Amino acid sequence: MDIVAQLRALIGDNAVLDATQLADRSAGIWRQDHLRALALARPASTEEVAAVLRCCQQHQHSVVTQGGLTGLVHGADAAAAEVILSTERLRAIESIDPQQRCATVQAGVTLQALQEAVEDHDLMFPLDLGARGSATLGGNAATNAGGNRVIRYGMMRDMVLGLEVVLADGSVLSNMNRLIKNNAGYDLKQLFIGSEGTLGVITRLVLRLREAPRSHDMALVGVESFDQVAALLKHVDRGLGGRLSAFEAMWQDFYRLVSSPPAQGRPPLPQDYPYYVLLESQGAEPQGDRQQFEQVLESALVEGLIADAALANSQADCAAFWALRDDVAQVFNGGTPLIYDISLPIAEMENYVAGLTGALAASVPGHRLWVWGHLGDGNLHLAVQLPANQAESLRPAVERAVYTPLAEFRGSVSAEHGIGLEKRPWLPVSRTPEELRAMHCLKQALDPQGVLNPGKILEPGPA
Ligand code: ZN
Repeated sequence: MDIVAQLRALIGDNAVLDATQLADRSAGIWRQDHLRALALARPASTEEVAAVLRCCQQHQHSVVTQGGLTGLVHGADAAAAEVILSTERLRAIESIDPQQRCATVQAGVTLQALQEAVEDHDLMFPLDLGARGSATLGGNAATNAGGNRVIRYGMMRDMVLGLEVVLADGSVLSNMNRLIKNNAGYDLKQLFIGSEGTLGVITRLVLRLREAPRSHDMALVGVESFDQVAALLKHVDRGLGGRLSAFEAMWQDFYRLVSSPPAQGRPPLPQDYPYYVLLESQGAEPQGDRQQFEQVLESALVEGLIADAALANSQADCAAFWALRDDVAQVFNGGTPLIYDISLPIAEMENYVAGLTGALAASVPGHRLWVWGHLGDGNLHLAVQLPANQAESLRPAVERAVYTPLAEFRGSVSAEHGIGLEKRPWLPVSRTPEELRAMHCLKQALDPQGVLNPGKILEPGPA
């Protein structure tokens, strides 16, 4: 019996698609190509996930787990000879506990579905990112997603209380912890968070919820120098007493791109400042918080840290500010850009961007560069648009210019997107040989036959 027939016998005919049935499925929400695989299995329970993995391991078929297909580093790409395990039928929000402030969900629930469900309980799940409508919570955990509010709430890693994971051999490792503090031995769930499907398949999660904020203040400010941007971060964080929930920077070119046609957004501030920062504060006292927010901005003006400010006066204004920042799709106009998510100390950012601008000017003719990012977290996004038909030939020069200087600054080749296939050659820029050996040891221990998402993060085989 072939693998399709075997999987159908285990989880049902309709739950398994064969290669021909995949022909019209997109490979991802940013992608032009279609899925390829031997089969796509859609288990509807942990037991079915376990049955699929047991079967695949027994027959030495590699398994690539897929969630919402919103990744940016080819971490969930499948080859024609591999089996895809999709979490699309693991869609249950099992419980929301307002007292313990946690939710129990299956891995295929989208981020937005959980955000909306907890609102009814006056609670918030603070992870937030542009792909919220498609990205799944299992995928958010498998890639340790970051996004817009890391400065206040941390990354996905900080929001997961418990996990259930199916290992390569089909055994179920259940750690559905609901406690905030639990120091009873190794924290095994953290091994799987950020492992991009290479160590196990996440099937269920217990997620930490927060009280919904009652005040929400935002401003967009124009800044004349990078030193002032860095000083502004300390100024507002100190002044807002723990309420700062986003500090998003946009370099001038990015701001112009997202506030000019064909983009929908219009500029709340003139377009000639070198830097723009989107500031957001969340608290519990609408009147008092607004007053303090205005005072902090006013003192930033008096101290010369900001040159200009536009305050949001309504929820619609807040949404419009976020829409500017989130309109990253504009970098896709005119071709597929190369997109990066590097991390480095704030003190090194200006030098880094100046060096990158010079290196690209010297070695990559006809490119365009945009810079923006979660500056409060030390995370910059870069998009490099290349002339049509030259993206692949120029990619190595761009990657060299982006990644090589990070070694000197002790930065990271991935702040939040992960490694996947795309950044695997560059992992040694950010990890020592000893760290890479330890990663190979873990992979070998948990997936000795190498069937789980092989080749992602690490080269297949021993270090
Ligand atoms: Zn981001």
